[in-house]
Amino acid sequence: MNHTLWQSVLGEIELQVSDGNFSTWFKNTELISHKDGRVTIGVANIFAIRQFEVRFDDMIRETLQHNGIDASHITYVVRKDNNKKRIISRETTGQLDQSAANKQQRAVDLIAPSHNSSTKSSTTNLNTRYTFQNFIVGSSNDLAYTACQAVAAHPGVKYNPLFIYGGVGLGKTHLLQAVGNEIVKNNPETRVVYLSSETFVKEFLDSIRFKKTGFSDKYRNVDVLIVDDMQFIAGKEKTQEEFFHTFNVLHQANKQIIIGSDKPPHSIPTLTERLRSRFEWGMAIDIQMPDFETRCAIVETKANFSGVTLERETVEYLAQNIKTNVRELEGALNQLLAYAEMRGVAPDVTTAEGLLGNVRRTRPQHLTAKQIIDKTARHFQLDSKEICSAKRSKHIVVPRQIAMYLLRSELHLSFPQIANELGRKDHTTAIHSVEKIEKSIKLDYLIREQVADIRDKLYA
Ligand code: ADP
Ligand code: MG
Repeated sequence: MNHTLWQSVLGEIELQVSDGNFSTWFKNTELISHKDGRVTIGVANIFAIRQFEVRFDDMIRETLQHNGIDASHITYVVRKDNNKKRIISRETTGQLDQSAANKQQRAVDLIAPSHNSSTKSSTTNLNTRYTFQNFIVGSSNDLAYTACQAVAAHPGVKYNPLFIYGGVGLGKTHLLQAVGNEIVKNNPETRVVYLSSETFVKEFLDSIRFKKTGFSDKYRNVDVLIVDDMQFIAGKEKTQEEFFHTFNVLHQANKQIIIGSDKPPHSIPTLTERLRSRFEWGMAIDIQMPDFETRCAIVETKANFSGVTLERETVEYLAQNIKTNVRELEGALNQLLAYAEMRGVAPDVTTAEGLLGNVRRTRPQHLTAKQIIDKTARHFQLDSKEICSAKRSKHIVVPRQIAMYLLRSELHLSFPQIANELGRKDHTTAIHSVEKIEKSIKLDYLIREQVADIRDKLYA
């Protein structure tokens, strides 16, 4: 009964999401139970849970409701029969028969995706490759993701300007362009322009140098202005002045402004005070490096989009070893797929190790719960016993919460297992602790640093 119902729900969902998203996230799902508004849905793995919670929850609720099921409260759990070993190294068969030339071409495409499916518009400058659908959400970027979606749904109304900042390769450009693409998709009449602040500087200087007219109007007649890499405007006072006026014209007309930068407004050197204060009018949100769980989801999804299902071990190997940024993670995956394709070998962990060097030897083969607790304790100059004790003083509570968080993020233990490792019977504290640290990481710089430090020590 549940099965038939779920099949019809999936049928509707398939029409609403991309093929890639459908096969990555929905194929392996089931409706486990529903009663009095409480619905439980089984999904493929722990990584899928957050994607469902953040991205698909509303859609599933609505679709269930269409099908006559009250779904006020949905819980996502990992399907039981999914712990079976998943060894499907290729989804498509018969590739071995392909001519060598064909294979090589595919390999080249993988290394340097030609983005066949993407186009760049000359009016908006947007690349259609960047969408919300292919952006993976985790605790490191969900605030930014949610704000971008809100702006895409109601440009000029909510956060204006929206300022997204963070290190290189963490998905700023992706999100900024996704907003633009979404707006154009929903309303093709909207005039959206995406550009880098470098382009703005260059065009402005050219207009002075060559006495061109019309520059000042160029960006004042748009509905949505997206300026990426704002840090390049540092030190360019005249350009800043020009941008200040553009900003004011747009803002007064309730036009949406979205800005990307590698630093928050107050840390961009030589940004004039008045421009800085304008940037701080709206909402500034940072993007961090995704945690292990999210990195796994990124690798898994990107591989799936290339038609490859990787073994869990390979996914984890890549996610574990590449912690710099998403661009590099993506690069390593593409290299692995291309190499495997070219050599006709499986893109498995042995191949990955061969490609990425001996990184693996330098880290513990199996990180244990005890190591996490010990290292967290040591980091705070505590004894592991204190962390596992029932003491409630603040200097112990926070380290204990961090240990629980790390047990979850690095070993993905269940909450009862986490409670057990810390000598507790009740696992609700584990749930609260993990949630609390997840939240603090976003809001509290110190906690973020502490967690990053300990994590580094775990893999040192
Ligand atoms: P930034 O502008 O912050 O330097 P980009 O937006 O160019 O970074 O991201 C680098 C690459 O990583 C892009 O190919 C982008 O699609 C990809 N990427 C980054 N974050 C994510 C994510 N959360 N999900 C999917 N792809 C991502
Ligand atoms: Mg960028």
